[in-house]
Amino acid sequence: MSSHRLNVAALAGDGIGPEVMREAIRVLRAVEKRFQLSFQITEAPVGWAGIDAAGKALPDATLQLCRESDAILFGSVGLPDRDPTIPKEERPERAALLRIRKEFGLFANLRPVRLPKVLSHACPLRPERQGDGLDILVVRELTGGLYFGQPKKTEEVVEAREGSDSPRRFQRSIDTMVYTTPEIERIARVAFESARLRRRKVTSIDKANVLENGILWREVVTRIGKEFPDVALEHMFVDNGAMQLMLRPTQFDVMLCENLFGDILSDEAAALAGSLGMLPSASLGQTTGDRTFGFYEPAGGTAPDIAGKDLANPIAQILSVALMLRYSFRLEAAAVAVEAAVSQVIESGLRTGDIFNPAETGARKVGTRAMGEAIAAAVG
Ligand code: NAD
Repeated sequence: MSSHRLNVAALAGDGIGPEVMREAIRVLRAVEKRFQLSFQITEAPVGWAGIDAAGKALPDATLQLCRESDAILFGSVGLPDRDPTIPKEERPERAALLRIRKEFGLFANLRPVRLPKVLSHACPLRPERQGDGLDILVVRELTGGLYFGQPKKTEEVVEAREGSDSPRRFQRSIDTMVYTTPEIERIARVAFESARLRRRKVTSIDKANVLENGILWREVVTRIGKEFPDVALEHMFVDNGAMQLMLRPTQFDVMLCENLFGDILSDEAAALAGSLGMLPSASLGQTTGDRTFGFYEPAGGTAPDIAGKDLANPIAQILSVALMLRYSFRLEAAAVAVEAAVSQVIESGLRTGDIFNPAETGARKVGTRAMGEAIAAAVG
């Protein structure tokens, strides 16, 4: 690791964003102290906070700060009850989130789903299906496939009818699924490299029995897999993958998916953790030297129903810090320390409302700040 400062743009956003971000920064400062690191953390407004401060969901100064940073730690944006008249392309979800994804070429989305055994009650599956707890990483390709392929349009069709003078008129929508070899290679490498930091197994998801894209996907992933002989590779059709997540989720380590399949399966996997408040995510872009540009955020949104009440679970935001340490800064020991601190605090019985079960012996309900303080203290 080079010695220059690690620059982090902290964009808290709206709703619960500021309160969970405060706890994430607290934990990052604890990491800084324990591991003798030096983070330059600069906060800037985004979302409705950006509109209020500078008239734009992604103010120019905030975007400039992101460009000058090594990683973006993001809260969440959007408040459904604010000004419904604002055009949709200026709304925070589009103007900030999609813009950042595009600007920084974030092609890999990583969503770890962890369910510790003590939170078994939060999982919708029966305990015997949960093994000793769940730990799955969904790696989703984020910039290709059906969401972006051209042509993409809805058109009028006029079709002659046999034996009739009046043609049949209807609409036809077209989405195009396109993947190139380099796109598949780079996301496959992210999956195999991530597996090396875990249990060394990749399950590649495709629909090679029906889709041309699936055949290419399987060929390329198999080829890249040969560069990682220490990682086991298996292929699974997406329909079976969706079913296996419910039947035997403990079989999965890393699930590698193209964009559409990853969108769906990452949400299905997320449901297993019981609360959005526990789920971080990373979106990765270019790697330069020993740094990978990354965008780190909780899987959930701004939770306006609980905002400002010290009720939000800060763990998703705090685990996003762990992902940033791991993927952008290659500080694996620091990442593990944050994850261990979260586990320790959960094991000790501290619960925010979303993961609290009154029937659980030894559980103690706490607020956002107390949870963040306990985790920061556990980092040491
Ligand atoms: P949401 O994720 O904000 O909330 C869904 C439910 O989960 C709510 O009951 C909420 O209280 C709960 N929840 C979410 N995070 C929690 C946490 N950390 N601790 C405890 N409970 C938590 O989804 P929504 O209500 O559909 O969306 C609200 C706003 O957030 C919308 O404007 C939406 O567009 C936006 N949103 C933004 C992002 C993002 O910035 N990446 C993602 C999703 C939704």
